[in-house]
Amino acid sequence: MRPETAQRFVIRVVVLGGAAALIGAWAAAPPQLDASTIRRALVLLAISTAAELVSIRLARGETSEQITLGEVAIAADVALLPAALSPIVAVAALTLSLIIRRRPLVKTAYNAAQYALATMAAATCFHGLGGGDIETSAGLFALFAGMAAFGASNLLTISVIISTTTGRALRDVLRSEIALSLAIALGSSSIGIVAVALWLDRPVLVGAILAPVLTLHVAYRGWIRQREFVVEIEDQKAKLERIVDHSSEGIALVDGEGTVVLWSPSMQRITGVAADEAEGKSIGFLLRGRAPDGSNVQSEVGGEDALMEITRPDGSVLWLRVRHGAARDPAGTLRWDVVVVHDVTAERETERMKKHFLATVSHELRTPLTPIIGFAKFLLRRDDMPQAARRDALVAVVDRAEHMQRLVEDLLLASSMDDGDALTLHARREPVDVSQVVDQVLRSARTSYPERRIVVEEREPVLAVGDRLRLRQVAANLLDNAIKYSPADTPVHVVVGREGDRAVLSVVDEGRGIPSDKFEEIFRKFRRLEDPDRMETGGAGLGLFIVDQLVRAMAGTIEISSRVGSGSSFTVRLPALDAQGAEEGTGPTALAG
Ligand code: ADP
Repeated sequence: MRPETAQRFVIRVVVLGGAAALIGAWAAAPPQLDASTIRRALVLLAISTAAELVSIRLARGETSEQITLGEVAIAADVALLPAALSPIVAVAALTLSLIIRRRPLVKTAYNAAQYALATMAAATCFHGLGGGDIETSAGLFALFAGMAAFGASNLLTISVIISTTTGRALRDVLRSEIALSLAIALGSSSIGIVAVALWLDRPVLVGAILAPVLTLHVAYRGWIRQREFVVEIEDQKAKLERIVDHSSEGIALVDGEGTVVLWSPSMQRITGVAADEAEGKSIGFLLRGRAPDGSNVQSEVGGEDALMEITRPDGSVLWLRVRHGAARDPAGTLRWDVVVVHDVTAERETERMKKHFLATVSHELRTPLTPIIGFAKFLLRRDDMPQAARRDALVAVVDRAEHMQRLVEDLLLASSMDDGDALTLHARREPVDVSQVVDQVLRSARTSYPERRIVVEEREPVLAVGDRLRLRQVAANLLDNAIKYSPADTPVHVVVGREGDRAVLSVVDEGRGIPSDKFEEIFRKFRRLEDPDRMETGGAGLGLFIVDQLVRAMAGTIEISSRVGSGSSFTVRLPALDAQGAEEGTGPTALAG
């Protein structure tokens, strides 16, 4: 049976059983409803309803249970009313209290039926054992037995519904519920019985027994609330700890004196300072560095939000945005400050690169425009210009315009490539005569730099496998750099040859050289070693990035060797073809367009 079906079945059986018990008891022994019995029944109904409303929530593992003083009143109902009437008063009191508490109808019906069965069992047991007079020990025993029957019946109906709902075996549920049920039944019955005895003998003293019960009840309720409060606080604390531990931003909690009391794992990661080193130290000592204007800054408890450059213990430098969330007491005294740190190094670098890029590109585009406009105006003004001078001016215009075209092409190419992602680029695989490519590049370089000495050294003719146009772009870029970054009176060498199965093209200069720790950096987009403010040489920092991507797309490699002050050499190696036209190291059909 599915749990819901079983549950519905149990509810129906218990509700019908409860109704049958009430009607059956009435039919079997109809009580004499004289005025004093009715008055007593009404008084007990009021007391029982009030007792049902006095409740404590008792936490039990994941769930909580509502414990009322109802059972205390049941003992009085059973002892003081006729057998058929006590279940009716008990059920009416419980139903009233559940309606006041706005409990769902099904729950109310089930609990009422439970009570009908349990009180019926108690009354039957009490009267069956001849407990008419509870002031005798036999009567007292009968009442105890009756309350035990009440507890047992209740335990059974509660356990059956728990078992069908949770799918646990009834025996297991009974075992786990029995201790609490016994304790409640015993305690409540005892108080109820003492209260009944007093009612019969000295009614004024009933208050004397109920007052401590209520006091205890209230005290216990307070304790439960406190416990719930503590559990809630612990829960909140655990949640906050998770947030602090898993936040990507560094978080520090600082007391009113500026001493760090909490240093989150992200804070350790960002600053490189461990929590046990940071906690107990001043925040100003831990977070200090340089402001964007170059002045020294340090974080102050409750201070202004700030941007600062810090140096970590390992020497690396980071830019941090530091925010403060200060908490003050009503008198305005600073109690806490939550300092949140965000690593903005990458953002600043991107920002810097953007500015640099714009400055460089505008400069690069403007530089060739000046001579283009100058020569064009000159040509416009002078119709009578000698043919040779006219030609020179036009050559210069074309040269500058081509330079601009190259720059725009480089920008377009670079914007379609990601760092280290050569796969986005398509390169043909065709036999390429490296010397021929060098010849073409040289011709164009000699036009741009007619004075410059460029020495070509062809050790042996070599056919590479690659893309002619791309290789031209590579050679032109390397040659352009060699010329740009070396003095005008030094030669530039271009060497063509082969090494085993590789075609080799080297461009060597005697220029300023490149520091070895910058070898990797200069192949990245927009990286220049020039001082952006001085702009001694032109360039957008794209040449080597594009060279590297193109060489990789042709399955080649590029190597750099350089000494600062002596010169640099860039060597490109590509797969070579052997004399029969086959790609070295593979079969003769390896070439594809
Ligand atoms: P660009 O030349 O447009 O600045 P590149 O990507 O071609 O861009 O080169 C990046 C940087 O590498 C250059 O700005 C320069 O500082 C350095 N560099 C490139 N080639 C040489 C070289 N032959 N000698 C010295 N420095 C070089």
